[in-house]
Amino acid sequence: MRTFEDSYRHKGLRKKLVDLLQSKGISDERVLEAINTIPRHFFLDSAFDEKAYEDKAFPIAVGQTISQPYTVAYQTQLLDLKPFDKVLEIGTGSGYQAAVLGEIGVQVFTIERQKALYDQLKSFPWLKKYNKIKFFYGDGFEGLPTYAPFDKILITAAAPYVPARLVEQLKTGGYMVIPLGETGAGKVQRMLRLTKTAGGGYTEEVFDNFSFVPMLGGRDGKGG
Ligand code: SAH
Repeated sequence: MRTFEDSYRHKGLRKKLVDLLQSKGISDERVLEAINTIPRHFFLDSAFDEKAYEDKAFPIAVGQTISQPYTVAYQTQLLDLKPFDKVLEIGTGSGYQAAVLGEIGVQVFTIERQKALYDQLKSFPWLKKYNKIKFFYGDGFEGLPTYAPFDKILITAAAPYVPARLVEQLKTGGYMVIPLGETGAGKVQRMLRLTKTAGGGYTEEVFDNFSFVPMLGGRDGKGG
């Protein structure tokens, strides 16, 4: 069950979380403001009511997680968003990262491969206030060719390799933020930012290590 009441206590906890993220090196004001605004506890079971403002990942449905706030902030900051950016997110999960992008005001296309998670978002009317977010049920490895090209692509699951179809769907000069590497016990992924070059290839910048759930191929149709 979820509760959709945002109290002064929640707001206070959020401000503390924002201060913590700032002390960890997040400096993009729009990212901090979005995190300060969005009730993260709306995205979790009511059992996590106050825990929602700890800087931790938590379980959502079907063995997936809502990313740690620091990770969300870090990836969003790396996107270096511009006002009219068209952003493709792979791995909608709880919808929290999409809401952060929506709050910043960019156009968001987000894909989830787990039907149960995708369906859950339809019964989450609070997200409807972000009319620039479009939700898709599908395989992120394929991207969304119909809506391409994108200014930015954000992958929020551990990618085993750089998906070629996603590079194709990026504009020249556009960024792909991707945690790359194997998953499993003790495994971490390197955060990369790829910049698409005019020839269709890309250059890469390497950032810190993180730990994500795996990016898997195909769609999982089991409802929850
Ligand atoms: N951005 C999410 C993080 C969710 S964790 C949030 O803010 O909560 C990663 C998500 O990626 C999971 O929900 C998982 O089901 C999804 N995922 C994994 N592989 C995928 C793929 N190929 N296409 C789309 N989504 C995928």
